[in-house]
Amino acid sequence: MKQNIPEKGAIVQRDGETFAVKVHMPGGYTSAEELRRIADVAERHGIPEIKITIAQRIALFGIPEEKLDAIRADLGELEEGGVGLCVRYVKMCPGASWCKRAQRITKDIGMEMDRRYHRTRVPWKFKMSVSGCPNDCCEGFIRDLALVGGPKGWKILVGGNGGARPRLAQTLVEDLSTDEEALAVVERIVSWFTAAEKKCRIGKILEEMGIEAFRKEIL
Ligand code: SF4
Repeated sequence: MKQNIPEKGAIVQRDGETFAVKVHMPGGYTSAEELRRIADVAERHGIPEIKITIAQRIALFGIPEEKLDAIRADLGELEEGGVGLCVRYVKMCPGASWCKRAQRITKDIGMEMDRRYHRTRVPWKFKMSVSGCPNDCCEGFIRDLALVGGPKGWKILVGGNGGARPRLAQTLVEDLSTDEEALAVVERIVSWFTAAEKKCRIGKILEEMGIEAFRKEIL
């Protein structure tokens, strides 16, 4: 059984021989040019399966190890998705750019969060989302850190996760009226978690210390 190769963003598959590579697409946004490039790479290298992932990325499956470098080179500036103990992704809904229910623009702040934090090394895996209204289509209550738009501004949720031991996030702060205010809080949370001594999901730490104590640390 081969092992994951994190520095190449390669994850060993069920057959124990081949790998999957995820192509990072911030917030799931892409372009005809990027999609053409991925299609060309898939055809050129005989990729047997392509999948749009739940993390708003595209995964290429069934890659033999000896093809990883050539595929990486052919993908060019298309970054690989985060693997291992890092900020894995920032999911974004279309927000006020497109959605008629939205109360906030999600793309600007979501892209900035992606630019700042995607693949940042942290003590445990860390997933973020940005939803443009309380419908919360990006399911912020099961993200380690989430922004949810409301009529008066951003609500910040922290400490949620899915998985085998799911947790619901708790509300840290509400009604942050500007993106800059929200980004400042996000920065403090990520920095705090980066420095945390405990190696586990941030939600587990919150369970132990309580949201009030965490709020005092961050706000
Ligand atoms: S969370 Fe709100 S703004 Fe975003 S897609 Fe869903 S309904 Fe639209």
